[in-house]
Amino acid sequence: MASLSFVSVSKQYGPTSAVETLDLSCAEGEMLALLGPSGCGKSTTLKMAAGIETVSAGEIYFGQRPVSRLSPGERNIAMVFEDYGLYPQMTVWENVAFPLKVRGQAGQPASERVGEVLQLLGLRGMADQNVRGLSGGAMQRVAIGRALVRDPEVILFDEPLSHLDADQKVQLRAEIKRLQKLRRVTSILVTHDQTEAIAMADRIAVMNHGVLQQVGAPQELYEHP
Ligand code: ADP
Ligand code: ADP
Repeated sequence: MASLSFVSVSKQYGPTSAVETLDLSCAEGEMLALLGPSGCGKSTTLKMAAGIETVSAGEIYFGQRPVSRLSPGERNIAMVFEDYGLYPQMTVWENVAFPLKVRGQAGQPASERVGEVLQLLGLRGMADQNVRGLSGGAMQRVAIGRALVRDPEVILFDEPLSHLDADQKVQLRAEIKRLQKLRRVTSILVTHDQTEAIAMADRIAVMNHGVLQQVGAPQELYEHP
């Protein structure tokens, strides 16, 4: 597993400063929440970590190594999106197996791995169902299964619970946290929901207008003795 560190990272979109000289580290096995209002730079930060966006200045480190110098194979980072991003014409099994399939991993080891992940997420009984008919909570569990199947070192969660109803939110919060601790996956959770950040994260980084305001454990930031 690896830590993920932003060192003086900035992102400009023309005149807009989306992220300004961000210094922030997510330790190995930690879940760090990026919390702040819409437009504060959370998604941009996540996309730079994922390599979907370039940085304008600074550097992001995966362990000791700059992300910009890693090959795609060395950059074992998975993402979980707000709108699940599943393949709608495929079954639960096929969705979770997909990242292995595209890397040419097949046969019994791959099947066992998919079965193990489905078990972990309580999806075994739904393996052959088309994902289109599932509840939002089940869809997001499939998306998490697809992220976990390659045993990623880092998972980036982009507003993963936004579209779920209150009951499913509470359930998935606990489930994501359990899996994240079980696998000790270094994780960044982007959210605008303070309750969610407090319930799930080891530490919370609060952003506003592209600037990191404060960072600390939930009880340090939000509880007064
Ligand atoms: P958040 O995820 O916190 O809602 P974003 O990272 O999406 O914030 O956006 C931060 C700022 O950067 C906003 O002002 C947004 O309009 C701007 N921005 C984001 N992506 C782009 C883009 N592709 N082109 C231009 N401006 C962008
Ligand atoms: P969020 O608030 O969840 O980050 P948005 O709805 O603000 O998402 O943005 C959706 C997409 O549009 C993102 O990929 C973002 O990079 C892009 N985007 C956001 N603001 C701008 C902008 N001002 N110009 C161009 N693209 C933008």
